Amino acid sequence: MPHRPNPPNHCRRCGTCCRKGGPALHQADFALLRDKTIRREDLVTLRVGEMVHDQFKGRIIPLDFECIKIRSRDHTGCCFHQPVPALQAIASGATSHPSGHCAIHENKPAECAALKCWDIADLALISATPRLSRLEILGKDNPLFELIRDHETRCSVADLLRHIQTPNPESVEHMRQATAYDAALRDLLQKKAGVPANHITFILGRPLSEVILGLRRWVAMH
Ligand code: SF4
Ligand code: SF4
Repeated sequence: MPHRPNPPNHCRRCGTCCRKGGPALHQADFALLRDKTIRREDLVTLRVGEMVHDQFKGRIIPLDFECIKIRSRDHTGCCFHQPVPALQAIASGATSHPSGHCAIHENKPAECAALKCWDIADLALISATPRLSRLEILGKDNPLFELIRDHETRCSVADLLRHIQTPNPESVEHMRQATAYDAALRDLLQKKAGVPANHITFILGRPLSEVILGLRRWVAMH
């Protein structure tokens, strides 16, 4: 019989969970946005209908609620994960670790504080608590919210999925118009409304072309 190492029963700070990507934010995390521990450029919005991996169900499912997440980088996972000890942290005498560290360790989001890879009970409890939404973060009087509502209508993920699954004569034109509108709105927000480029994935979610690619992949697998 091959030797299997015992499963861990404490955090070895290996950073594997951080390298897999950032957490979803819940209402308990709102204070971290208010005090700017987490900024808008650190966020990405996953919109209703986007396909996500549900770690509790062990499969990919469509989101039935909006999900604001800490953004990930391609190779190092969560954008707060520092893959090697930061020089600044070493200089200041902060605890460092060869597997890297969390840049906001003392104030990490609720999901991260609850995460134990050897026992997901606490994470399941936190995951079931209300999530933050763009409306709550921006405030209902924010003029951007009307644009977001319009974008949700014209670029609805559920509509796109329907057109991919059961195309009709209008489907190609619908996809073309939605993608063009999405790209134009991103441009307009930056050039006319002065929204920083790195806030756009929080305000409008991932570019529609990426969302469509994800939907096509999911449809191809089912
Ligand atoms: S919770 Fe698990 S995966 Fe995450 S750092 Fe600790 S030991 Fe590694
Ligand atoms: S916020 Fe910190 S603890 Fe949470 S995934 Fe990112 S690096 Fe890891």
